[in-house]
Amino acid sequence: TTAPVTVIGLGLMGRALAAAFLRAGHPTTVWNRTTSKAAELVAGGARLATTPGAALAASPLTIICLTDYTAVRDLLGASDVELSGSTVINLTSGDSAQARETARWAEQRGARYLDGAIMAVPPAIGTPDAVILHSGPRPDFEPHEATLAALGTVTHLGADHGLASLYDAAGLAMMWSVLNAWLLGTAMLRTAGVDAVTYAPFARMMAAGVADWLPGYAEQVDAGSFPAEVSALETDARAMTHLIEQSEALGVNAELPRLFKEIADRAIAAGHGGEQYPVLIEEFGRPAPG
Ligand code: NDP
Repeated sequence: TTAPVTVIGLGLMGRALAAAFLRAGHPTTVWNRTTSKAAELVAGGARLATTPGAALAASPLTIICLTDYTAVRDLLGASDVELSGSTVINLTSGDSAQARETARWAEQRGARYLDGAIMAVPPAIGTPDAVILHSGPRPDFEPHEATLAALGTVTHLGADHGLASLYDAAGLAMMWSVLNAWLLGTAMLRTAGVDAVTYAPFARMMAAGVADWLPGYAEQVDAGSFPAEVSALETDARAMTHLIEQSEALGVNAELPRLFKEIADRAIAAGHGGEQYPVLIEEFGRPAPG
């Protein structure tokens, strides 16, 4: 568990990554464009490489975490950087196409390449709360799994390099959906003098209850069959109308309820009113009209 590791990019996130490796006892080499950001890590035992190429050469595994993929390609593509023989894990945020293209590009240069996504803030790095997703060839991931465990809860999602960023995007969709729904409810309850802290436990219970439906609903999505076992979409749509009217009557923001209804109405117009809610996957699986 004390394999050497290199971290390139010592922004807020890169510094947290390098510090976690140091705390776990890994000989850690670092490099950053602005050298001063390495000072604290070096004081803590990190070795400072003089060039990105030297940083890569110092360890069998290099983690890179920069602002964006352009910076990664500029840095790794420099003429004095030898990628051949290195394993590079790119934890820079980006989309699935960038991940796949950069994987091809790095592999053509002889690197083993994994793409990752960090679903955590820097202070959480090194604790189980830090979820770090990886995708790319499993045989390239497995030898480093124990080293990566120093960063948090580390998962390998599959061989397709785009998977980490797709799961990351899906996680963001979940996060903002739950937060927006909670804020709408909070705004409604506040009109009756119920403060946010009083409502929060109920909101949490609702979110957890709905989350419990997902595995069963997922089976309907995979089967492409949506029998109305508990409720039909047109029943949901009537409740959406109540939600719109209630929001408008209270003078809170009714945009979300209107959007819910707009999407459901399209599916109903297409003949799916008698089916169960997950039939809306058809609406989510293509661009919105107009
Ligand atoms: P920072 O802005 O703190 O750091 C950016 C890093 O990229 C710095 O080390 C900077 O070097 C380096 N950099 C930028 N452009 C270049 C370049 N052209 N050549 C060399 N180095 C370059 O960002 P964070 O550390 O917060 O984020 C890094 C990545 O981690 C991002 O993709 C971000 O989305 C992701 N992330 C961050 C989270 C967070 O909470 N902070 C959470 C999840 C993901 P220099 O110091 O010289 O400017």
